[in-house]
Amino acid sequence: MANDRRVVIIGAGIAGVATALDLLERGGSDVVVLERYGPGFGSSSKSAGVIETQYLDRSAVEVRNYGLRYFERFAEKHEVALVQSGYLRLAQESADMESFRKSINLQQEFDITDPELLDVEEIQRRWPRIRMDGRVGGLFGPSDGYVDSYEFTLCAASQIVRLGGRVINGVDVLEATHASDGTWNLKTNQGIYEADFIVNAAGPWAKNVAKIFGADLPQNNQLRPKIKIEHREKLDTLLPFVMDYVPGSGRDGIYFRSETPNELFVGIHTDESIQEERDPDIRLGEASQEFVDRVKELLPTRLETPKGLRLGRTWTGLYAISPDNKPIVDVHPDAPGVVHSMGAGGSGIQLAPAMARIAADLILDSSTNSFPNTDWSINRSSLHTS
Ligand SMILES: Cc1cc2nc3c(=O)[nH]c(=O)nc-3n(C[C@H](O)[C@H](O)[C@H](O)COP(=O)(O)OP(=O)(O)OC[C@H]3O[C@@H](n4cnc5c(N)ncnc54)[C@H](O)[C@@H]3O)c2cc1C
Repeated sequence: MANDRRVVIIGAGIAGVATALDLLERGGSDVVVLERYGPGFGSSSKSAGVIETQYLDRSAVEVRNYGLRYFERFAEKHEVALVQSGYLRLAQESADMESFRKSINLQQEFDITDPELLDVEEIQRRWPRIRMDGRVGGLFGPSDGYVDSYEFTLCAASQIVRLGGRVINGVDVLEATHASDGTWNLKTNQGIYEADFIVNAAGPWAKNVAKIFGADLPQNNQLRPKIKIEHREKLDTLLPFVMDYVPGSGRDGIYFRSETPNELFVGIHTDESIQEERDPDIRLGEASQEFVDRVKELLPTRLETPKGLRLGRTWTGLYAISPDNKPIVDVHPDAPGVVHSMGAGGSGIQLAPAMARIAADLILDSSTNSFPNTDWSINRSSLHTS
């Protein structure tokens, strides 16, 4: 088939590269990814890389299941690691255990049959170091795990080139004009690029890029830190990813996992926008002392901390969150041919394959039926009433 569709993707984060791969694998498109710096420069190199399906509604399970299967296949084919060391979401009250029970039923609908509802005793039997004071149990997904999302993004970028696409670094998209024949002309710091279709996959900058196309889309950037903690005492049993946050609770919670018998990764997570909004160009660096102090306070409440702790590297990144905490993947009515793919918050790695599939559907078929339970459209009511 002739490559008759010229597609320019703005941003070589995981959303952009996954969309490029989806289009190239389905054929018939010339795909160019324009990246201001280099692949993974944005949030995709700052992530915890968790891929999991322990969610509480049908849509969230559907799209994450697609993501998990995608990463399994990708890891097998390209020899990048998907470490399936499990994911344990803790329940704060008995109503959470009821939601977790429903999640297990939902997951079975998608052929995810191994998640388990664990009571406090069982959690402590398997991982004696996890402290369960004030917690009533948990939902455990043994097949869940994590990827190095930077490694994945780089690997996907090189696959794009192997499949005949291009990834051009150092290109900053500045302005866009729409010609009468439907072609988009993108003005960049390195000349003009022409395209029939555009994908705005600019992560925390997506709201700014949407404005270039005359679209005012809601997105709130939240700063999220992470820390690596080394410990002299070697753990006999590695910890799965433990998440002390329940979606929709309006609170944040600590998470941690073992990286090696002598290393922990720790962060504080919520899907929700509960802090001040940040400029995407904010200078990212080390985590604040306030975050380090909170980790010092919260970690011992959930983990019998190993001996000889030493705080290691800290870093920060941005969650780009939409008003209802779900991605937006849609064409804005005022800018035909431009698909905005944004707002995945703290789930943008695990959701990237599903976001890519929908963005590619919209380009190839002008509509999508790939995920019947999922509405990531711009005009959904929850986006405008949340
Ligand atoms: C601390 C932390 C932990 C996280 N943990 C997880 C997790 O465990 N699991 C999970 O699923 N998700 C997690 N996330 C979220 C996830 O990392 C993001 O949702 C995801 O990386 C967003 O990918 P993206 O491709 O949309 O954006 P980005 O990776 O930010 O990519 C956007 C790209 O667009 C480029 N760009 C911007 N403007 C322009 C322009 N005008 N012209 C050209 N290029 C441009 C940027 O340079 C950037 O490279 C975490 C995030 C953080 C910060």
